[in-house]
Amino acid sequence: MISYAEAISLVLDNISPLPAIEKPLDEACGLVLAENIQARWDMPPADNSAMDGFAFSFADWKPGIQLPVIGRSYAGHPLDQRVPPATAVRIMTGAPMPQGCDTVVPIEEVEENGDNIKLPEVCKQGQHVRYAAEEFHRDETLLSSGTCLHAGEIGLLASAGITSVRVHPIPQVAILATGDELVELGQQPAPGQIVNSNLHLLAARLKEAGISTLSLGIAQDDETDLDQRLRRGLQTDLLLTSGGVSVGDKDQVQDALNRIGFEKVFWKVAIKPGKPTLFGKIDTQPVFGLPGNPAASAATCEIFIIPALRRLAGHKNALPPRLKVRLAAPVKGGGKRQTFMWGSLHLEAGEYLFTVSNRQGSGQNRSLQGACALLPVPIGSPDLQSGDEVDVLLIRLPAGSNVYR
Ligand code: AMP
Ligand code: MG
Repeated sequence: MISYAEAISLVLDNISPLPAIEKPLDEACGLVLAENIQARWDMPPADNSAMDGFAFSFADWKPGIQLPVIGRSYAGHPLDQRVPPATAVRIMTGAPMPQGCDTVVPIEEVEENGDNIKLPEVCKQGQHVRYAAEEFHRDETLLSSGTCLHAGEIGLLASAGITSVRVHPIPQVAILATGDELVELGQQPAPGQIVNSNLHLLAARLKEAGISTLSLGIAQDDETDLDQRLRRGLQTDLLLTSGGVSVGDKDQVQDALNRIGFEKVFWKVAIKPGKPTLFGKIDTQPVFGLPGNPAASAATCEIFIIPALRRLAGHKNALPPRLKVRLAAPVKGGGKRQTFMWGSLHLEAGEYLFTVSNRQGSGQNRSLQGACALLPVPIGSPDLQSGDEVDVLLIRLPAGSNVYR
């Protein structure tokens, strides 16, 4: 059986970023650039004041000297005249520096006497001036291909006159639940039935990651139903199934995929939970069969699906982000498979403490309650002690650490 390291390499090696598309800048937040971007002009376009104050020539400055104020320069309304020596101009933040001036003194530092100002005791040549092109110059490469655009990058590109960008689109995912025992949420399960919670879990997690999903519903463990529903998922960027990939009599997903052109890359990985994970492709579309146990579905979604989606979306580093934390309680050492343990995080004295969920059963949705991270415990690792520093795979920071969640 292959290791997680081998499996995730196979996943990433078999997936390429989606072909780039042109997007208006305001629709590009969260997307990854597929081109280098050059500025269309200098920024700032001209020398200007960084403060509300007075501009003058430093050659005229002496501690406490008085200068007559002969005009005003406002942002959007520059002073259109050369400033004679030994005079000053009232200037506001962002207003162009008038010709003949090279220094600004803030309003708070001068004494105003009618039409005159008294300059301060201390002043430096060129103070409070922002120079033309000091932020960037025309044709300068501002961002390179592979950069993920966030609010800061969008603002920068807008200031440089970029109206649209070539980016990798966000992938769309089709999700299919499988199992004769499953009923839709909203129905009362009869004896022997349970609600299809995985579809809701996976769709919510992908939504949280900014990914839209197409629900293929619940397939019965039945050839025709599986084939029909799987075919509906072929038009998306990634096909994901839950359940039916293990070795049980009713586990028919792999056979069904084979009938519609599936080429297997791997089946079964030495991990716990998630051993029966199946990965391959139909043409260029990546296809994953995740195990049906909820905590196994969720863990394999984190360690395989999210990285696969990051690769499709063009991210250079597709692997789950790692965070150094301290263990809040001891953790049993590794067994024969690499184990991923769900747990919660909380901040204490500037450090994140990780507490393993007390229900790790892969069949239980409750092991995911409050979970923010996965602790990888390598094969054969010794027992870990409370206070040990470990790396966890970060899923999200705990509730309350983000301003809007
Ligand atoms: P399977 O992988 O199909 O053998 O399913 C393993 C376990 O996960 C069984 O107990 C299933 O009932 C359960 N299971 C499978 N699919 C789902 C689902 N969509 N929602 C909740 N539990 C599921
Ligand atoms: Mg099943």
